[in-house]
Formats: sequence, C-alpha cells, structure tokens
Amino acid sequence: MNSYAAIGRRALLAAGTLLASPALAQRGPRPTLLATTGMVADLVRGVAGEGFNIETLIGEGVDPHLFRPTRNDVARLLRADAVFYNGHRLEGRMTEVLERAATQGRPILAVAETLPRERLRPNDDYPDAADPHVWMDPTLWAECAPAVARTLTRLRPGEDFSRGVEATRLRLARLDTYAREALAPIPAASRVLLTAHDAFAYFGARYELEVESIQGLSTEAEASLANIEAMVRLIVERRIPAVFAESSVPDRAVRALIEGAGARGQRLAMGGVLYSDSMGRPGTYTGTYEGMMDHNITTIARALGGNPPPRGLNNRL
Ligand SMILES: [Zn+2]
Repeated sequence: MNSYAAIGRRALLAAGTLLASPALAQRGPRPTLLATTGMVADLVRGVAGEGFNIETLIGEGVDPHLFRPTRNDVARLLRADAVFYNGHRLEGRMTEVLERAATQGRPILAVAETLPRERLRPNDDYPDAADPHVWMDPTLWAECAPAVARTLTRLRPGEDFSRGVEATRLRLARLDTYAREALAPIPAASRVLLTAHDAFAYFGARYELEVESIQGLSTEAEASLANIEAMVRLIVERRIPAVFAESSVPDRAVRALIEGAGARGQRLAMGGVLYSDSMGRPGTYTGTYEGMMDHNITTIARALGGNPPPRGLNNRL
C-alpha cells in the first residue's frame, strides 16, 4: 500500500468511527426549522445554535401583515421539521395556513403567544389577539426563548438548549441597556415617536416614548385623508419634531404629513427609516435582529435630540 492509500484508509476508518459514534448516529440529518419573519428566525437561531437548517419565509422589506403565501410557501411550511411564527395575527393572511399546519403533528410554535397575556398590549384590529409587535421590547422578546427551547427538544429529545436561552437573554439585555442609555437624554417635550404604522407600542412603553402612528396595528387598511389631517393638527399642537418612515411600509402618508405640517408653518423633519416588521438585507448587520434594533434605537435617539454613538452599539452602523 502506498502512503496516499494509507492516508485514505485512515481517513475512511476515522469517518467510520465518527459515523458509528452513538451521539452522531442518534442526531441524524439536520432538521429544517422554518420561521416566518427574520426576527423569529434570529430568535430561533440564538437558541438552537448549530445543527439545524434555519430558513425564513417572509423576505426583507416584505410586510408580514399583507404577506400572502404562494403554493410553494405552503409546501415549504408543510415540509419543514418545525415551524416558528410570531402569532397574535402578525401574519394576518397566513394565520389559517399556520394553524392548519399545527394540526398535522409537527412542532409549530407561535412565539409571541407563549407570553402571559398581562405582559402584552391590546390589539384593536383583532380583539381576540394582542399587539403582535413584541420583538420591539428586547427583554420581552428574550422571554420567548424558553418556549423555543422546549419546541426544539421535541425534535432533539435529551438535548439541552439552556445555554442558547441564557446567551439570548444576555445579548438582548445588553441591547436593552444600550437603548435606555441612548434614549434617556431626549428632552421631555420631544419624547414622541411618530411612525407610519403602530408597531412601536412595546418600544415606547419600555423606553418612555409616547407613540403616535398614521395607521393602526395592522397595515391592511390604508391611511385616510382624515387620519392625515388629524395627525397634522396633533403635530402642530404638540410641536412634534420628526416623523419616521418604515422599511416595509410605503412612505406616501409620511410625506403627506411633512407637507401638511409645512403648509401650516411647522417644520417636520424626516427622522429616518426604521425597521418595524422586517429586518435589513440578509448578510448585513441590519439583517440581524440586533442590528435592526441598534439601527432603530440610534436613529430615533439622533433625530429626537439624544446623543448616541455615531455608529451605534457595536460600531457597525
Ligand atoms: Zn406591524
């Protein structure tokens, strides 16, 4: 046997030993975990660690309230080993498909629906549900991690996911501390967060900002002219300094507000574009939950008179 053949034989033997190892044999192929939004996928990734394929159904810049699954999306849902979604009607038009998938025996978890109701805010559009935008409060979002771990244990009995839960809690606590520090210096009169749709109630409650929005909790109904006029009156009365657009919502109404306020002699600044129901481009910093929240916190703090570090929490903006 020449030396190359010997090396090949040793490699084969080593591979055979690996395959025969009970731990790996038990694990089998990598299960596919399908998450609806990027924020849910990121939460699941933090808890699951390596060993799973994690996919996202609703892409960058797409509004989950309006998302209609194609036949291919439904097939992906039914093929996945486990499905994680936000719940509380965030995935408005897909909720029935998700509920149907849940009756077919595979693990499926609505992460925001695992929180006790008294921690959640009301939903005027769907009185049977709570406000779905739970990820906007990092401490509340971290509380969804244990339920993710329990669901993963159904796929991998005996595996311990508590390290991922703890790491998630620490990572999100750091983000929360940054938000409190960056937003605290905003003067009392400017502590109004005016956005396109009502995605920021948890954020406002956590960081003591009054929240106003042109549209309701869902984006399913368009803002009316009466909405816009009422909002312009409020802006002028309260001397609200800035309005924020959202990456997943058209900015027509935001521009109408800026014009409307200007016509009444009040300058309303465009505070920037926030990530509300969708993260940034995959593979970029704002394409992660932490990056998206860092961007939002830093943009809001800057526009309303706080003094955040120019490149945010991790110097990556
Ligand atoms: Zn929303």
